[in-house]
This record gives sequence, C-alpha cells and structure tokens, in this order.
Amino acid sequence: MYAKVIVDIAHSSVDRVFEYAVPKDLSIQIGHRVVVPFGRGNGVIEGYVTELSESCSFDCHKVKSIFRTADDVPAFTKEQLSLAERIAKEYHCTMSESLRLMIPAQMRGQRVSEKQINIANLMIEGEELSELLDYTARRAKSQHTVLELLCQVKTIPVSDLHAICPQSKSGLTPLIKRGAVAITKQSVRRLPFGAEDARRTQAPVLTEDQQKAVDRVKDAMDGERQKEFLLHGITGSGKTEVYLAAIGHALSKGKSAIMLVPEISLTPQMVSRFRSRFGDTVAVIHSQLSAGERYDEWRRIRQGEAKVVIGARSAVFAPVENLGLLVIDEEHEQSYRSEIRPRYDAKVIARWRCSSAKAPLVLGSATPSVTTYFRCKERGRMELLSLPKRIGKSGLPTVHTCDMREELLMGNRSIFSGKLAELIRDRLSRNEQIMLFINLRGYAKFMMCRGCGHVIKCPHCDVSYTYHRGKYGDYLRCHYCGDTIAVPDVCPSCGKKYLKHFGIGTQQVEELVKEQFPSARVLRMDHDTTRQKDAHSKILKKFERGEADVLVGTQMIAKGLDFPNVTLVGVMAADSALYFPDYRSPERTFQLITQVAGRAGRAGSPGDVVVQTYNPEHFAVELACRQDYIGFYKEEIVNRRIAQFPPYALFMRALYTGEEAEARKASRTAGKGCEEVLTRHGVVPLELKFGPAPMAKRGDEARCHVLLKLSAKDVKRPLIEELYAVMESQSCGDKRSVVELDPLSMF
Ligand code: ADP
Ligand code: ZN
Repeated sequence: MYAKVIVDIAHSSVDRVFEYAVPKDLSIQIGHRVVVPFGRGNGVIEGYVTELSESCSFDCHKVKSIFRTADDVPAFTKEQLSLAERIAKEYHCTMSESLRLMIPAQMRGQRVSEKQINIANLMIEGEELSELLDYTARRAKSQHTVLELLCQVKTIPVSDLHAICPQSKSGLTPLIKRGAVAITKQSVRRLPFGAEDARRTQAPVLTEDQQKAVDRVKDAMDGERQKEFLLHGITGSGKTEVYLAAIGHALSKGKSAIMLVPEISLTPQMVSRFRSRFGDTVAVIHSQLSAGERYDEWRRIRQGEAKVVIGARSAVFAPVENLGLLVIDEEHEQSYRSEIRPRYDAKVIARWRCSSAKAPLVLGSATPSVTTYFRCKERGRMELLSLPKRIGKSGLPTVHTCDMREELLMGNRSIFSGKLAELIRDRLSRNEQIMLFINLRGYAKFMMCRGCGHVIKCPHCDVSYTYHRGKYGDYLRCHYCGDTIAVPDVCPSCGKKYLKHFGIGTQQVEELVKEQFPSARVLRMDHDTTRQKDAHSKILKKFERGEADVLVGTQMIAKGLDFPNVTLVGVMAADSALYFPDYRSPERTFQLITQVAGRAGRAGSPGDVVVQTYNPEHFAVELACRQDYIGFYKEEIVNRRIAQFPPYALFMRALYTGEEAEARKASRTAGKGCEEVLTRHGVVPLELKFGPAPMAKRGDEARCHVLLKLSAKDVKRPLIEELYAVMESQSCGDKRSVVELDPLSMF
C-alpha cells in the first residue's frame, strides 16, 4: 500500500504530493496526519494523507516509509480535503496552507495533548495590566510578548506558551517575580465560556413572519436542495429565533449545522442562548479560546459529539459531517474576510460547502451588504425572507438628528448636543441606562500644532498618532504598529507650544460624561479595556446587572447585545467614517448608525436615539436615521452603477511591501504586465494604477500597489487568472505579494 502525502511546509516548491510506503502494521486512512521522513539526512516532518493506492508511480524500492500516524482518527474528512483543494486553486495558495485552515494551529506538531500540566495564569487586570503592557513594550520585549498572549488567553499551559512563543522562556520568570503571572498545577477540563450547566429553555411560539421564513428554509432542507436565503430583518425582529428553529430542524433530521457570527457578537449572551436550547451538542469556536479549549472543541466536533457549531469566521471549516444547514448572521460584516493568507471569504467557502452538502445557506442581516441585496433582488440568486417588525418592542425608537454645526453656532462647544445632554439627564434621573458610541479608542484622533498645522505622525507608518490618556501621563500611540511616545511639549516642527488634540475617542467621552454628569457611573468598552480574555463579558455583565448607568464604547457595543434597560443610545460622531476615501463609506456609515440605533428600546418604551452629525443631509445618514434600508439600497445602487463600482465592477489589487525601490519596481513591472494582458484580451479597464499605495509606509516598510478596476462585463476567468499570475510573479525581495479580488481595503 502507498500513500500520497502533502507535507506541512507552506512553500510552493513542495506544493505537490509525495509518495510514501505504508508499513504493513499501520492502519491508515485518507485524511490521517502522519509523520514522515523528509529531505536529505534524518529530516522528519508532518504531512497529510490525501490518497491511498496499491501502486506507486516511481521506483518502489526507493520509496520511503511513513513512520507513524499523528492521531488515531483521520484529522480531515474527505469533504474537507476536496474543500482544501478548491481553496488552494481559487485563492492561489498551497495545499498545506489551505489544509492548515481546517485544524487548530496548536494541533500541528502535537502541542496540545497533555492533561496534567503547569498552567500560567494572568494575575493582574484593568489599568494595572495596561500600564505593564505599555512599560514592557518599551523595556522588555519578551515579557511583553508573553503578556500580550496571556491577555488573549488569560490562562495557558506553560508548555503551550513555550511552544507558541519562544520568548516566553526568558519572559515568563520575571513576570512571575512581578506577581503578574502565577503558575498552578492542574488537570484541565477545557470548556469554553465555563462549564455552567445551561438550563434548557423552550422555543417561543414563532410569529407569522418568523414561521414563514422557517418553513421556507425547512422546505429546502427537506428537499435537499442547495439554496440560498437572505433573511432581512431589523434588529430585534427575531432573526436569531429563526436560525434556532431551522437549526433545530436540522438536528431532528440527524444532521449538523454551523452558524457564523462576527467575532464581536459572539457574546456569552449569544452562546448561552444556544446552549440553553441545544445543550452539550453545541461547540463554540472563537479567537479567545485557549489552545486547549480550541483543540477540545475541535475534537468534539470531529467525533460527532457536537453537532451545532457556533463560531467566528474560521468555524466555516468546522469538521462537521452531514451538514444540514449553514447560517451567517450579520452577513454584511467585514470580519468574514480573512486578512491573512489565504485571504478567503467565509461567505464564499460557505457557498461551496453548502453546494456539496446540498444544504441551504441562510445569510441574515438588518443591513445586508449592497452586493448581497443586489445578488438577491437583481440577480435572483437568493430567496428573500423578511421580518419587517420588531418583537415585543413597541415599534422603532425615535431618532433625533443633531446638526453639530448648528450646535457650534449656538455656542455649544461640548461634545454633547443639547438634545443628547437633556436626554442623558432625563435617563439618569429615571435610573434607565445609556449607551454612547464612538468609533475610536483612545482620547483624541490626532494631535496638531495650531501654529504651523503640523500633525504628529508615526515615523514608521503613514498615519497620525492617536492621543491616549495614561495613568502616568498622556502618550501618543500608532494604531498600526503600536509605537508609543510621550506627548511632546512643543511642536516638533516649529517648536512652538500650540499643540492641541482634535477629534474624540472613547476615553474622552468617558471623561466628559463623568465631568458633565457627576452622578453617572460609567463603563468603557474598547480594545484597551478588553485585552484580557474575560474582560469583555465582565464589563457587559456589570452593565447588565445595573452597576453602571452609561456604557461608552466602540463598535464592540454596537452588535448583538440586548439590554432591556437601555432606553437611550447616542451616536457621538455619525459621519466619522463617511469621508473615508472608499466606495463603501456610505454603506458602512449606514450600517453603523442603523446597528447602533437598534440597541435602544424595550418592551413598552421604544427609546430614543441621538445621532450627532455634521452632515445631516447626507442620504446615508438621513436614511439610517429613518431606519430605511430599502431606501438606502435604492439610492446607493444607482450611485454604484453611475460611478461603476461593485457590483457593477470588480477591483483587483496587488500589494508589494518592503524596501522602497523594490516595492516600486515590483508594482511598476506588474502594472505594465497587466496593461499588456488587458490589451491582448482587448479589454479597457475602468482604472489601472500602480505606484505607492495611499498608505505609503507602514511599520517602516514601503507599500506599493497595483489597483485595477474592471467593468463587471469584462470579468472572465481566463483574464483574471492571467492578471493574477502577472501580479503574483512580482515580489519585493523575498516577501510575497498580496493579490486580492474585491480587496477589503484599498489602502
Ligand atoms: P434579532 O436576532 O433579529 O435581533 P432576536 O431573535 O434576538 O432578534 O429576538 C429579539 C428578542 O425577541 C429576543 O429577546 C427574543 O428572545 C425575543 N423573541 C424572538 N422571537 C420571539 C417570539 N416569537 N416570541 C417571543 N419572543 C421572541
Ligand atoms: Zn506606526
């Protein structure tokens, strides 16, 4: 018996199958992870069996033998192997890169298996933690790396820590001496979000609209038809109940289901809702799981113990068998796109999986992406299911639009409009809760000299520093590379003392709420207060228990949360994303305002939303305030057609980063190459640019790109493949180019 094996090296030179003999006493199946000899000498490597055969395609005497299997059961299902092949092909990556997507990273090289182990525990939190993070970032890199990792996982087996981050060998001991980390011995039982036994709850009686939607999905499931649905329902209209009912139907047919949610809305609330309905058959996958938890959850799914998987983007690869339904909630979210190689789109992968499993795919949102709605309405590729009414809540909240230019003219220099201040006072007096949303962490957006107009920028990146308040003094931080400096006293350019900060961030809102409304108890939720594993849920639980009146936060507070006592929501700066030079800016602004506004209201009192803006007449702002998605779509799709943007066009982009001259040369050569390919195909592009990217530098690396816009009618597979090849043929030193279709960012 012979096996074809993909070796676990992500290099194109070994991106093919290698043949090995299977020892007689070894039982091997397709999908098994194996340990094999590789290369000259005594090299040993892990690989994945993709095929078994009786014969071998070259000299059978020279073929080496597999040493052993890495796990008892095959790590990959056959379906996953063919999915991996398709990914490798469509996203131009190697088979090993695409197979790696499907197993927990820590499983490779057998880094998780022990049960009785030393555990490193993070012992500090909050500001103390933030301060130590900042201090070690400057003074003790290896401690910093360990600390950062611990922030994410909170506790981790020491052996895993050493394996994941080699610096921990020198960084851990000083942290223990500081009292920041403690080592405990324990046998771990790894259950994400605690092992609290979920109390079973009954499904509510569905409304007519919900029932109709569920029935359509059930029909498709029963008919084993691969079919796509768009569930369009405003926030609080009961979409999640529809998903739960449909998933319940899949389970009753002995099938399994996957539901993807954006990382940010994978809250304990959401998980316990699933657990209370389906019990232990629910597995959870998200980025804050420890290595062990991730591995255990994966194994439960692989062994068929867990049949309902709820998770963020990567859960689309969950090794479920007999898939009956796949749901993508908040389908408009960007987080479904991977930002690292291979840059897959979970929505696309979901389509592939559903089509091979003949299972329905349900995309849900209150604000579907323009492209999805177009696919549904204009192309007829999906069936539309609508939930137009809110459940239990008496209609939509009242939205007040506040023109901040007028406020300024009337002499109000505060960050709170008159209306917002008035309503905050009112809610505080009635013991009701308030959420204030601002899309920037830190204190202020940037620092500028009023003497000469100089904006203080990160020397390593092409962006301005963000202003932060710190316990030991204020500082400026680059949100791209993390570089931090103390706030200078004088302008580095003209030497005068006219430096002032501009724009508002979460810290400033928090500070000014405390200042202007001294009785208010305030919580802040942003990346800086939630670096630690459970911080996120701790803050939310505190707020839910009514231990605070105001929750200030970034988009983290915009999604998926349901607090019945919140009757006022303030959007501090609605147009902060509006003039960002990206064709999706109006769409993102609309989505953000609508999502945030959806947080207000409760039974019997729909609540108020205050939207503060400098552009009240902009259609995206205006229609968001009216919660009119269809109105927005109709206007936006016309704009897209006139200006030739997706879905009427396709962007393709190659990014080259590294040494400046090399990056420039790569982008120029690729750009010229694309010109030549297009001419040969007789295609005139809507746009073809090459040279420095809009963000020309990041982390001391130059960034150059090729940006190509094609009319949708010219998009043909052979052309795209040729363009891809030309763009990929260039590189900057030994750094690979990043080639993307429909790129997430054009910066
Ligand atoms: P969405 O996902 O659209 O925001 P949810 O499914 O979370 O909406 O529903 C909003 C609230 O209404 C939840 O508290 C949910 O438990 C409740 N709910 C949903 N459907 C029903 C129903 N048919 N009967 C009673 N309550 C419901
Ligand atoms: Zn920087």
